[in-house]
Amino acid sequence: MEKTDIGSMTKEELEAYFASEGEKKFRASQVFSWIHGKQAASFEQMSNLPESLRKHLEQTAFITVLEPVKTQVSGIDGTTKYLFRLPDGNVIESVLMHYHHGNSVCISSQVGCACGCRFCASTLGGCVRSLTAAEMCGQVYRIAQLSGQRVDSVVVMGSGEPFENFDNFCRFVEILNDPAGYNLSRRAITVSTCGIVPRIRELADRGTQVTLAVSLHAPNDEIRRKLMPVANRYSIDEILDACRYFFEKTGRRVSFEYSLAAGINDTPACADELAARLKGFPCHVNLIPVNPVRERTIRQSAASDIQAFKRRLEKHGVNVTIRREMGRDIDGACGQLRKSYLDGPGSSKESDNSGGMG
Ligand code: SAH
Repeated sequence: MEKTDIGSMTKEELEAYFASEGEKKFRASQVFSWIHGKQAASFEQMSNLPESLRKHLEQTAFITVLEPVKTQVSGIDGTTKYLFRLPDGNVIESVLMHYHHGNSVCISSQVGCACGCRFCASTLGGCVRSLTAAEMCGQVYRIAQLSGQRVDSVVVMGSGEPFENFDNFCRFVEILNDPAGYNLSRRAITVSTCGIVPRIRELADRGTQVTLAVSLHAPNDEIRRKLMPVANRYSIDEILDACRYFFEKTGRRVSFEYSLAAGINDTPACADELAARLKGFPCHVNLIPVNPVRERTIRQSAASDIQAFKRRLEKHGVNVTIRREMGRDIDGACGQLRKSYLDGPGSSKESDNSGGMG
């Protein structure tokens, strides 16, 4: 019999599950707070449950525990990259960053990614599978435990496309937000998507108060299609309409990520076109100097071009920042640590680690 993944259930789902097993509702609350409030690693630890129930759970259910396989700490800013092994042997990466406003953890939502963005390392081996809600929560819990620090915010900006794993992503938000669990405010969670329009609208309809970040990376569809295959599915107009709808429904300002690649999307004309498209929409643009990946031919824009791009957007009244490069001395962009681990010893040294988070 396959064991039930009870760590991926919201409190309501767990209550329904316990009811179906003939157990009392308050037992579900107890188990939920053991798993998500106290981050228990086994049923044995759940000292306020009767032994018969603990035994029953051991036989019929499981708790996901992530095993750390590798840690890299930046000597510059203390940013720490973690490589975790999942119960089925797959590995994923997560990052802990220290900002003046607190500790932020960047988590993966899938093993690999199917999006195929031309500059990204996460997508090189395709998508192996989506993560469960427990595996997403587990990255936060494990990092809190290993670092001995409270996690103040979470960004779903690691490997994977969270909106291709939408149900589990929504569960993850609900579980992490639960006062009996980690009790992290929804507003402290940011989700980054390559622009899956129907899911942006669905998130808006649910009124989920997370911060939405959309990977735009281009001022028009023609350039965007050169960088992101998903641009063949959804146009920038459709994405911006969905973002406006999200803002109307939630009142949350949308962020647009824009990775600058030399000679592709970093010209003054691109800045003007981008500003014109975003005109009048209360949003924020986050410029990311492209983090060169060994297997990719795309190069980072010159520092002077990045500054000029920023000033040009500002001149048009766009709210813009350049993303601070974190952990520039450790395996840089999205998916690089996992990739170098899978490629075997030595390969990480050959990769270009010149950037921060990607
Ligand atoms: N699938 C989600 C999350 C991906 S990673 C998305 O597409 O938004 C988070 C951000 O980093 C995205 O904006 C992604 O496009 C960007 N990114 C990935 N690799 C990068 C690299 N090598 N250099 C710069 N940005 C990168």
